[in-house]
Parts: sequence; structure tokens; C-alpha cells
Amino acid sequence: MRKIAIIGGGQAGLLLGFGLIDKGYDVTIYSDRTSEQVLHSRLPSTTFLFESSLKVERALGLNFWEEAAPYAEGIHVDFRAPDGTVGLTVQGRLHDNHGQALDMRTKFHRWMDEFARRGGRLVVKNVSLADLDEISAANDLCIVAAGKGAIAALFERDDEKSVHSVPPRNLAAVLVTGSNLTGPRPWRDIPFRPMRFNFIAGAGEYFSLPYYTHTKGECRSFLFEAIPGGPMDIFGDVRDGDDMVARVRQAVKQLTPDEVEHVPDDMEITDANAWLKGSFTPVIRKAVGQLPSGRLVFGIGDAVVLNDPIAGQGANNATRMVTAYLDAIVARGDAPFTREWMEDLYAGFWERSGQFTTGFTNGLLVPPPPSIQEILGAASKFPAIADDFVGNFNDPSRFWPAIASLEAARAYVAGKVGHVA
Ligand SMILES: Cc1cc2nc3c(=O)[nH]c(=O)nc-3n(C[C@H](O)[C@H](O)[C@H](O)COP(=O)(O)OP(=O)(O)OC[C@H]3O[C@@H](n4cnc5c(N)ncnc54)[C@H](O)[C@@H]3O)c2cc1C
Repeated sequence: MRKIAIIGGGQAGLLLGFGLIDKGYDVTIYSDRTSEQVLHSRLPSTTFLFESSLKVERALGLNFWEEAAPYAEGIHVDFRAPDGTVGLTVQGRLHDNHGQALDMRTKFHRWMDEFARRGGRLVVKNVSLADLDEISAANDLCIVAAGKGAIAALFERDDEKSVHSVPPRNLAAVLVTGSNLTGPRPWRDIPFRPMRFNFIAGAGEYFSLPYYTHTKGECRSFLFEAIPGGPMDIFGDVRDGDDMVARVRQAVKQLTPDEVEHVPDDMEITDANAWLKGSFTPVIRKAVGQLPSGRLVFGIGDAVVLNDPIAGQGANNATRMVTAYLDAIVARGDAPFTREWMEDLYAGFWERSGQFTTGFTNGLLVPPPPSIQEILGAASKFPAIADDFVGNFNDPSRFWPAIASLEAARAYVAGKVGHVA
């Protein structure tokens, strides 16, 4: 039985671990925290998964929250001027591309226990570079799925693929309950349970999603993506969860006064740890790392493809990487996992998927180019185009070729309008 070690028990590490034990591999996952510590930790993210990712989890029998977690049925996004005036609205239904957002503390706690139950080995250890040498010597393959952990620095930055040298946004997020936040129709004028996005010129963006957490059940997340130094950038000195809720209320009232109903007086944090703030610099790294001994380790997920969360893609991307890596590991049979094999696998993934996820994400961090303006303008008028646009979040490669140039965008819109007329 081939032995595989995975460093990191998050979306990429755990999911790959389950996939591998399902195929008969001998798998050890190293996590820097116990499942109890994960459950009682601070909120790590506000992660939404689209259907293509949920399908992967479902196939492995890991969808324990399928019935409990509310599905988001569509996206309603307002593009606003700096004073909050709405310039353009796009409202699309996700249809079969719908998805769910689940507290990652809830999920990884359960998955870690489940991994051991299914015969995987879970070692609690904050793996150092020296440990990595020992671990890779004892295994046929060593995969680093350590997310934003410091150990990911062993993978070299890919300067051609990385466009950021500083954090593009300051982030602040919280999980809350309250009036007009949960249930099937929390926004009176939106005929489905929405993900609610606001893009405010010069300030940044904020996102509110239907959510699920173990402490309160159905709730709602807020994620603010503040342009550093801009009018949304008011979360830096937040000290605790109640302070964060108060600051969210203030930001919503100030930037989008018409949304005041959705930051009600009874809005409260789901548990004292359910908030985060901070920033990081997105980076794309080379996926093969060489240890001082010469042994190789292979990166997956945020450890090598780290994008800003603005497009809600990091965990979806990690899941797509898991599928690609799992298939390739199985297809490799008993052959050695060489540098060439790793590089080809990663290059193929980047070509098919990673480049589009990264390109779309980076595109949302700057004012939209003419091609995207053309599509958004049409999407604000034609529901079929709006549905297409929001549905493409499930697989960002589908934004292409339409967003590649103004000409391509016009051709796409003309084809679509002709089709729906
Ligand atoms: C505010 C915010 C909102 C987001 N929203 C979305 C969204 O809507 N949709 C989406 O798809 N993605 C979203 N993301 C991104 C998503 O959370 C990540 O991309 C995803 O979790 C990456 O999975 P991963 O397994 O690579 O890393 P992680 O899930 O971060 O897991 C890495 C694990 O490795 C452990 N670790 C680190 N170092 C070591 C070590 N040395 N030894 C042992 N263990 C170690 C860590 O503790 C952690 O448990 C969001 C992120 C943020 C911050």
C-alpha cells in the first residue's frame, strides 16, 4: 500500500486525505491543532462552496450538513458610486450552480474525527522544515496543504503568475443572527435566498451570505473587503466580536444607507470567536519544493495558489486541485512521484483551471475593464445573462472567452440576446 503524508488539515488536506483512503492508500495527515482546538478557534474565513465543490464532498460522504445548511439560490449585486447611489444592479439565479456556506470550524472538527474513524492517521504536530524531511523520507509522497501557514514559504514565488506585492484589501468578517438576515427570503425585494454583494467605488466591497455554524445553526456572514485607507477601512482597531458587530452596522449604514434593515438592532454575533480581521498578500507559487536533503514536497491549495477572497474561490479552487491530484495519483499506479510528474500535473491544472480562477479574482480587485462592463450592463437588463454571469462563479473558466476583450464580450451578448429574444 503506497504511503502518502499530508501536512495541513484544512479544505485541501482533509479532502485529499479522504479521497486517498477511499482508494486504498495509507494516509497520514499532520495538523497543527486537535479537532477540539479547531472547533473553539477564531473564525478562519467565510467560505462559500458552489455545487461543483459540494458534489466532490457529497461523493465522499462528507456532506453532513447538506440538510441543515441553507442553500444560496442566487446572487444580487449592486455596483455603487462612492456616495452609495446604486449605478447598476445584477440579480441572477444560480439554478444548478447553487451552493452552501459552512463554518470551517464546524466542518474541519467533524472531518478530522471522521478521518480517523475511516482509518486515516491524524497526527497533531506543527510541522517544521526539519520534520518535513523526516516525513517525506518515510512516505512515497509528501503533500503540503498548510494554507497560509509559514511553511508554505518553502515553495518559491512564481513571479510571472503573481501580480500582488502588498495586500490589495483589508479584510473583516463576522457571523451573525438577527431579523431580516435568515430564512428563505431575508430581502423583501429579492425573490430567492441571496448572496448579497455590494461593490462601492473607492471604498471596496462587502458580501453577505446565508451561513451555517454549529453554535447557532442558520446565520449570516458579512465579509468586508476594504481598500486600504478608504472609507470602508474602519475595522483595524476592532477588539472583540461585539465591537465587530457594531462596526459592521456602522459601515453598512454609512456606505449603503438603504441596507439598514439588514443590520438590525437585534443583530448579534453567533459566538464570541466568530469574527476575523487582517490582510495578506495573494501569491502564486511553484508547486514543487525541494528540502535541504534534496527530497521533494508537492504543494496544494492556498499553500501554492493563494488568491484574495473577493471572488469566493479559494476553497473551491482547493477542491478542484484535490480532484486533479487524486486522479493523477491513482493513475500513477506504482511509478515514482518524480519532479516531472508533479510539475506536469500542476501545469495542467493551472492551464485548465487555476489561471482562470486567479485571473477572474484579480479582475474583481480593480475597476472593471470594458469587456466586463459590457457584460454587466447586459446582465442588468437580461436575466439569462445575469444567470450566466453568477453561475460562472461555479467554474470561472466559463467567464472566458467572453471577458477576454470588448469584442468577445459584445459577440457573447449579441449571441445571448438573439437567443433570448
Ligand atoms: C475572509 C475569507 C473568506 C473566504 N471566502 C471564501 C469563499 O467564499 N469561497 C471559497 O472557496 N474560499 C473562500 N476563502 C478561502 C478559503 O478559506 C481557503 O482558500 C481554503 O480554506 C484553502 O484551503 P487549504 O486547505 O489550502 O488551507 P486551509 O483551509 O487554511 O488549511 C490549512 C491547514 O493547515 C494547517 N497548518 C498550517 N501550517 C501547518 C503546519 N506547519 N503543520 C501542520 N498544520 C499546519 C492550518 O492550521 C490549517 O488547518 C475565504 C478566505 C477568507 C480569509
